[in-house]
Amino acid sequence: SINASIITIGDELLIGQTIDTNSAFIGQSLNKIGIWLKRRVAVGDVKDEILNALQEQSKNNDIIIITGGLGPTADDITKPALCEYFNSSLIVDENVLQHVTNIFARFNRPMIERNAKQAEVPDNCLVLHNERGTAPGMWFEKDDVIYISLPGVPHEMKGLIEHQVIPRLLQKLELPAVSHRTLLTAGQGESVIADKLTTFEAALPSHIKLAYLPAYGMVRLRLTGRTNDASTLEIELGEYFDQLKGLVNEWMVADKDISIAEAIIQLFKTKGKTLATAESCTGGYIAHLITSIAGSSAIYNGSIVSYANSAKENLLGVEPSTLQEFGAVSEETVQQMAQGVLKAMSTDYAIATSGIMGPDGGSPEKPVGTVWIAVANKERTKAIKLHFRFDRQRNIELTAHTALNLLRL
Ligand code: ATP
Ligand code: MG
Repeated sequence: SINASIITIGDELLIGQTIDTNSAFIGQSLNKIGIWLKRRVAVGDVKDEILNALQEQSKNNDIIIITGGLGPTADDITKPALCEYFNSSLIVDENVLQHVTNIFARFNRPMIERNAKQAEVPDNCLVLHNERGTAPGMWFEKDDVIYISLPGVPHEMKGLIEHQVIPRLLQKLELPAVSHRTLLTAGQGESVIADKLTTFEAALPSHIKLAYLPAYGMVRLRLTGRTNDASTLEIELGEYFDQLKGLVNEWMVADKDISIAEAIIQLFKTKGKTLATAESCTGGYIAHLITSIAGSSAIYNGSIVSYANSAKENLLGVEPSTLQEFGAVSEETVQQMAQGVLKAMSTDYAIATSGIMGPDGGSPEKPVGTVWIAVANKERTKAIKLHFRFDRQRNIELTAHTALNLLRL
């Protein structure tokens, strides 16, 4: 099998200023084509460290992907390190020079000598065109090992992985065909689902695997097939996926890999319904999840972020006596919030949230993590109480996802 590793370069990664999201993306991208990463290594902007890492990783790997340190500034030392490692000298690549010149012209900025340096590449590499930036990717082969150096900027790195690296690896390595089918369930824990799927799982052939991917009260189920015969794989995987859908039908929200917000938006579109939100403890986070999805305007009217009691009264029509008697975090308040925004925004459905997200503010009757969520339409209003035990950010995220889940009509 093929062994791959990543070397990420940059002092900022070691001091924790930048989180290494590049490795996560590369790991996922390689995994999709059936290559498992064996190792991730991070080193600073130090030439000897980079050389050591290259030496070390080349012993056990067929593919080494390197990101970072390709910029025109003095701390970006990857290119000199690569030249030393591969015994190359720098030459100007005319295509890259033209590309860099075009980019500067497009932004109406003068190009200085330092920028032109981006067009210098080792004379024994294959240059990978970077559509999204000035630093090109570089592909080397030495002693049966492939080395791929990419810029650190995540957006540029992603473009190169998708358009240059993956297609070339597929061509070069004659990898087995890999295919995935994913569905999304909500409202049921993974152990209950696993119980239901015991027989199904046991009957799967060895080249088809089932994975449980739980997050925010939802569970994604993913079937992965891997074989040398791509033509039969799709059909076979499709059949198992149909079986799987049948078995989990009562919990299934979508039969593809989408977020709960996307699933809700699709559902509302199909039914021709509209939605509004009244958010206290989630502070607009539900609105953010919904409006992050293109096309949400067809079903979503908006949110009232009613954080203070006065906003709940004035903007949503919550009764002062209700707030007085039951408090802001209560069944009565959250129901009136949902009804209030339903009316204010003239929608078919509304959700409202109110809770104590922590770390302070709890009481014995209403400890930190207490959340009320209401769903309303013109006929009725339903409220549920939850209790989350995480930190503030996670409590907010869980509340938002649980609220969206309740909308499955
Ligand atoms: P540039 O041409 O822009 O200088 P570069 O290849 O030199 O690109 P760096 O200067 O090392 O890249 O980093 C550019 C940006 O990308 C920085 O903001 C850095 O924090 C970020 N970055 C670098 N490596 C990673 C990584 N592994 N994960 C996420 N972000 C990263
Ligand atoms: Mg850097």
